[in-house]
Amino acid sequence: MKEDYYDILGVSKGATADEIKKAYRKKAIKYHPDKNPDNKEAETKFKQAAEAYEVLSNPDKRARYDQFGHQAFEGAGGFGGGMNMDDIFSQFGDIFGSAFGGGFSGFGGGFGGGQRRVKGSNLRIRVNLDLEDIANGVEKKIKVKRKVQAPGTTYKTCTSCNGSGQVTRITNTILGRMQTSSPCTACGGAGEVIDKKPSDADAQGLKLVEETVSVKIPAGVVDGMQLKVTGKGNDAPGNGIPGDLLVAIQENEHPTLKREGDNLHYDLYVSIPDAVLGASKEIDTVSGKVRIKLDAGVQSGKILRLRGKGIPSINGYGSGDLLVHVNVWTPKTLSKQQREFFENMRSDDHFDPKPESSDKSFFEKVKDMFS
Ligand SMILES: [Zn+2]
Repeated sequence: MKEDYYDILGVSKGATADEIKKAYRKKAIKYHPDKNPDNKEAETKFKQAAEAYEVLSNPDKRARYDQFGHQAFEGAGGFGGGMNMDDIFSQFGDIFGSAFGGGFSGFGGGFGGGQRRVKGSNLRIRVNLDLEDIANGVEKKIKVKRKVQAPGTTYKTCTSCNGSGQVTRITNTILGRMQTSSPCTACGGAGEVIDKKPSDADAQGLKLVEETVSVKIPAGVVDGMQLKVTGKGNDAPGNGIPGDLLVAIQENEHPTLKREGDNLHYDLYVSIPDAVLGASKEIDTVSGKVRIKLDAGVQSGKILRLRGKGIPSINGYGSGDLLVHVNVWTPKTLSKQQREFFENMRSDDHFDPKPESSDKSFFEKVKDMFS
């Protein structure tokens, strides 16, 4: 089982942002690859701490993690194969910056001994979804303008770093003498530079193309969630790896259904005669219209619960409910005849309110809904 993010950083669930940052900094320094050369366990712990910090330092992600645990990040929006070192150093550079006397930028040698692979930049797009798409899950074909390697571009070894992609230097830090590496500025860390490129390519040998990317959106996504399509960002120059396409979910407002978590609410307005005599009414759901039966004598404020007719849980555990709120609609004006009818009824004891225990107050009903 995957370890709890709070346990990884050694903080309590109620830890402040500052406590989380301090805890992460401590772990990052302890397991830093420069201090633990060729130590796979330290590498794993270093990556775990970064992943935990990535989530817990972001209020939205932390809230989702608190609610759903690791499940919150599985599937299309998940970490995929975990964070790589480049991600860690590009995202949390400020933490190392202060820990390493500001001399630390980038990350290269000493870790796996390999050449730093440059990553292409990420692309961000927003996708608007109707509630019906969110309820059922949907595959969207999205047109994306991304930079790809122009065919015909060739590369040669960078002469500034002899292909290693980095410049190494020794610095004195609070942790003692440390060897730090920074990417070669001549080649951007790729270890190679462009030899020949076609005329329509930019300085990095890339050109802009429009591509249709298919994005699988799981049922139950929430407004503001971000899904990641690995490798569909901009290509990197040379032998680098492409960036990712980050898809932000935006939920369109539904004309009649209001979403609250996985539950949906529908306001049903009924006439006085329908409330008195009972009626069959058509209502909207995310899977089309359905008919519901109102018993004779239904009270205004009654909530009918249609189980499982809400939004499926993003974690795959069941679905929310559709709550139909009954509102008895009262006309503001009456004809002479109608007025006479109601005036006669006013003096009839049968119309005096006599609430029974089944006609619960609104607050009791709300309590029921969450029990
Ligand atoms: Zn170079």
